Amino acid sequence: MQLPREVVVGKNTLEQIGAICKRLDFSNSALIVMGPKTMEIAGRKAMDILTHEGLKVDHLVVTSCNIKDIVFVEDKIDQLKPQVILGIGGGTKIDVAKISASHKDRPFISVPTTASHDGIASPLVSLKGLDKPYSLMAQAPMAIVADTNIIINSSPRFTASGCADVISKLTAVKDWKLAHEVMDEYYGEYAANLALMSAKLMLKNARLLTTDMEQGLRVLLEALISCGVAMSIAGSSRPCSGSEHLFGHALDQIAPKPAMHGEQCGVGTIMMARLHNINWRQIRDTLKRVGAPTTAQELGLEKEHIVEALVRAQEIRPDRYTILDERTLTPETAKTLAKTTGVI
Ligand SMILES: [Zn+2]
Repeated sequence: MQLPREVVVGKNTLEQIGAICKRLDFSNSALIVMGPKTMEIAGRKAMDILTHEGLKVDHLVVTSCNIKDIVFVEDKIDQLKPQVILGIGGGTKIDVAKISASHKDRPFISVPTTASHDGIASPLVSLKGLDKPYSLMAQAPMAIVADTNIIINSSPRFTASGCADVISKLTAVKDWKLAHEVMDEYYGEYAANLALMSAKLMLKNARLLTTDMEQGLRVLLEALISCGVAMSIAGSSRPCSGSEHLFGHALDQIAPKPAMHGEQCGVGTIMMARLHNINWRQIRDTLKRVGAPTTAQELGLEKEHIVEALVRAQEIRPDRYTILDERTLTPETAKTLAKTTGVI
């Protein structure tokens, strides 16, 4: 079980990056992986702070997370031999840094500039361009430094998407429990409860994101980080990814222009909650409250995409037993499900 050693969430926490690296015994060298935008938002500042602390700091700018990007970063790691890799950005940059560091057996520090999904703290990465559209195991970050002063300025769409990703654990945990009962799959109560608690706290505190953004962001970040930790404890994405994520991954393959990860999984959660016979209306209403999409139209997708993704979700990952194995959806029953829940 790999867990982060330092988790720092709050205003201006980026300023602590030098002290954190020192505490973790990284006082010689670091490699920062970031995007062109995140370099301006946070990257330059991190470089300055670490250089000031006496570290030799190199940086790489990446724009996507495919095999080419990963090889590019890995080659640099071989060449520069940094003590630690920092990923600064939203999903992609953190993922590239995380998987490259893991392949090269180096520690990795996550510095999220958005709160759009639980990958900021999880040991998994989502890689594009593979036959498997779901996440792969890499390594947990050694530290997470989430500066709410930076994240508060990101697009509200990212934050809403992160909220939806947390809420999706309501059905993910149900699916896991089901797999345990029906298929005798390993079920870790601690990991399951941690993910579930995060989702419940998010439901309870969602209004904060409209009334007190700073406080709301803290709740969201702590929830996302707890979800990441839940996956580290479980040793897989099981506590955080069930049928609603399979639906989201199916949309990624079907839709010409997919929406954000959390947005798609959030809409999936509404429908899977209905299949699980849990309170799908409360889930839909919370997603609405935080400004996350609840319909095909709001996702920018056609009704047909939703129906097709529902039908194909199960085959995305047949080894992952979910409610979709109990309630096989046909185009007709999928359409009914999407209609009853107001998604189409
Ligand atoms: Zn997710």
